[in-house]
Amino acid sequence: MIKIKCGLEIHGYINVENKTKLFCNCAIEEDARPNTNICPICTAMPGSKPMLPNKQAVDKIIAIALMLGCKINKRLLFQRKHYSWPDLPAGFQKTMSGSYSVPVGENGKFLGIGIEEVHLEEDPAKWDPLTGQVDYNRSGFPLVEIVTKPDFKSSGQVRKWLKSLITTLDYIKAIDKNAGVKADTNISISPKFNRVEVKNVNSFKNIVKTIEYEIFRQEKEINEGKTIKQQTRAFNEKHGTTVFMRLKETAADYMFIPEPDLPVIKLTENEIKKIRERLPERPDEKIKRFMVKYKIKKEDAFVVCSDILLSELFEKTAKKINPLLAARWLRFELLRVLNYNKKELSDTEINEKHFIDLLRLVEDKKITETTAQKILESLAEKPFDVNEYVKEHKLGAISGVKELEKLCKDAIKQHEKVVSDYKKGRKEALNFLVGQVMRATKGKASPKELKEIFTKLLR
Ligand SMILES: [Zn+2]
Repeated sequence: MIKIKCGLEIHGYINVENKTKLFCNCAIEEDARPNTNICPICTAMPGSKPMLPNKQAVDKIIAIALMLGCKINKRLLFQRKHYSWPDLPAGFQKTMSGSYSVPVGENGKFLGIGIEEVHLEEDPAKWDPLTGQVDYNRSGFPLVEIVTKPDFKSSGQVRKWLKSLITTLDYIKAIDKNAGVKADTNISISPKFNRVEVKNVNSFKNIVKTIEYEIFRQEKEINEGKTIKQQTRAFNEKHGTTVFMRLKETAADYMFIPEPDLPVIKLTENEIKKIRERLPERPDEKIKRFMVKYKIKKEDAFVVCSDILLSELFEKTAKKINPLLAARWLRFELLRVLNYNKKELSDTEINEKHFIDLLRLVEDKKITETTAQKILESLAEKPFDVNEYVKEHKLGAISGVKELEKLCKDAIKQHEKVVSDYKKGRKEALNFLVGQVMRATKGKASPKELKEIFTKLLR
């Protein structure tokens, strides 16, 4: 009987507003030419000393740890983690993990999974083994490492949890989503056997694949009577497999020592309190609250809360407009328009006034849903006053039965063949007629109403 135990060490780039590295003033810039954002500190010139850590990175990591329910330590210590590799000019990495570890946060819990620790470290440079060239631009970028307890029991659970984690961290703009996350994955399939670590897996999809492959591989080994050695493996993306790298190293191999060039960071209760007070409601809590308070479906709540701005727009709208209508329009119409334009809500100037005005017109049947869709499309490009726009462009719905009946009769006259098809039983001919009137009114009539009128006229 296999009993899977899986834990993750997740690494992400911390999003700092000042776009400055952890121990020097060099810029954090994506797509910069190689070795343009560098200085003696981040290239570890002899005699160089780190500056005090970027305060924004320290504050962000405290916020991350708090969002994940961790206890915060008040005395934080950087250590030197020694290893010899071309991407590490100093010969050591400055990290809060290791033998003298005092992580920023520990003993947390997030959606049922224990959080062992959350800590801060610097990124090494980028080494290209094929050319031997090293790019120091990212040397010294602030990184967060989140270590979970081995509480995951399946790859599906990992996928769902990681997605929620990223949404949650995005609520506080804590990590650079574009840069993606990497994870080291620990997997054992029975308490009787050692765990295997797979290093540096670089996407959700590959993390899931790694776990699935390791379960398959370890089961096979055991069935063949072999034992599972504690080891470190790498993921082979091309084949979807893992390959042996080395037997597991221990902390002693890294010769950790406390970093003598950096003081211990002392946090006060008041500083932690201030950060805690600024934290938003967590998305999982918000989903539950929206379902109870606004009676929206779980799937709608899930989508609405997938982005903090979207959730705030929903809540402001739901206070004025039927929440079910607001949820439906956010989930299907607004997201359709944003996806089509490859934009996020924050890239547009759509605000709650636009949305409330628009949906109120729909709710009061002053405009048709088709018209509202078109207005929303225009709003994504450039904001304007919705009510004035409707007046100015004469977009008000045509709902006078008389007026609509006249248009329907015209359509019947013009399309005798379609009408006779309909009378012979071809029901879809009705959609064609409705389409004709919709076109003639530029979408200002309700298709439902037109269908009723045609059905009556053609009886
Ligand atoms: Zn620098």
